[in-house]
Amino acid sequence: MTDRDTIAAIATPAGAGGVGIVRLSGPRAKPIGEGIAGRTLIARRAAYARFRDSDDAIIDDGIALYFAAPASYTGEDVVELQAHGSPAVLHQLVDRCCALGARRARPGEFSERAFLEGKLDLAQAEAVADLIAASDVRAARAARRALEGEFSRRVEAIADAMLRARVHVEAAIDFADEPIDTLGGPQLQADLSAIADALDVLLRDAEHGRRLRDGLHAVIVGPPNAGKSSLLNALAGRDRAIVTDVAGTTRDLLHEAVRIDGVELTLVDTAGLREGGDAIEREGMRRAHAELERADLAIVVLDARDPAAGREAVAAAALGAPAQLWLLNKSDLLPDAGGEPPVGVPGDALAVSALTGEGLEALHARLRALAAGEAGATDGAFTARARHVDALRRAAAGLAQARGELVRDSLDLAAEALRQSHDALGEITGRVHADDLLGHIFSSFCIGK
Ligand code: GDP
Repeated sequence: MTDRDTIAAIATPAGAGGVGIVRLSGPRAKPIGEGIAGRTLIARRAAYARFRDSDDAIIDDGIALYFAAPASYTGEDVVELQAHGSPAVLHQLVDRCCALGARRARPGEFSERAFLEGKLDLAQAEAVADLIAASDVRAARAARRALEGEFSRRVEAIADAMLRARVHVEAAIDFADEPIDTLGGPQLQADLSAIADALDVLLRDAEHGRRLRDGLHAVIVGPPNAGKSSLLNALAGRDRAIVTDVAGTTRDLLHEAVRIDGVELTLVDTAGLREGGDAIEREGMRRAHAELERADLAIVVLDARDPAAGREAVAAAALGAPAQLWLLNKSDLLPDAGGEPPVGVPGDALAVSALTGEGLEALHARLRALAAGEAGATDGAFTARARHVDALRRAAAGLAQARGELVRDSLDLAAEALRQSHDALGEITGRVHADDLLGHIFSSFCIGK
């Protein structure tokens, strides 16, 4: 795009070393940069310069770097002015860029341009944001891998295999008088089965990557008055939930994000999972169950004095989550905590007291261990977003449907399901595949009609 305007922004604020970077991108980046630096800029050559204001006063001195399109981060002409100024100096530089014809960049606009110029795909552009926001080394490393295209490459490999399968099915439709077996039906089924396997593994890794980015999603469940809200407050460190003595009053789901060692735990306090109840309570239960199905971990809270109360209903509900952590709360009210766990409660249940804080350190440690196990830094881990996981799930569902339709010999329906599955994958990287299909059909099959 040639008619794009030129944008400017502080790319890196002045850090501890006192160096900050103002970045310009767009067709006028070079003349504007040269106007400020007062000298000609040569691509990829660091130029020492005095950065001057309109009245020739020196704003700061530093290094000007010019990257000629398309060999730059955004794919456009880019100039970076490295100054060792305070924030005030950097703002002055941006103002000067704007006076010379640039405009202030919106958040993410450099990455957006990189995407539009084909320098980054969508998943990579998102990884840039994740890298910047990464709260610990592990998350940063994973974002870096996503940025390098690890995730995108795997999505693309599956999308390519799917494209070949689509070509196969479309061809079978064109040669409808030939049974699909003579067109390599068993081969097609084998290919689709391999794609489904690869998609399964990628989906698992993406879910893992989503947790690396968003943290473990935990849901607190337990009978009314077990102390769920109190525990939430104790973990969150402030009065977030409303604690009352009347059973069944915590009707709303309260979302609270707690950061422990760089891992985000979203605690969802649910309405007491009480049998029966009024319409509002039933709605609360419905929502609690829905939350549990989306959760990575159910934190089951029972009253240590009466662990049998509500245990069965809660245990059944907690099975909706892939992992459970059991707590026996109000340990301060038991004369003698410890010893054998009560009937129906796992042996590794923790005795805690939201009131006195007893056992909370152990609870923190357990959560950390669970989070590390769930989202541990394995080689090849990359960050992913809920959007990616959702797209992969839809791709897997479409693929499963296509395989079913093929077994029933419904080629048209299979082709349509495969198209939807393929499109879902394309959403992740932001590439459109619709036109590719025709090209592939013509180039690889030479049908000639
Ligand atoms: P929820 O219905 O499960 O959310 O339970 P709440 O957090 O509202 O707690 C119910 C009652 O138990 C309140 O009166 C709390 O103060 C009390 N409670 C909660 N945790 C503890 C605890 O560890 N020890 C004692 N003694 N009381 C607690």
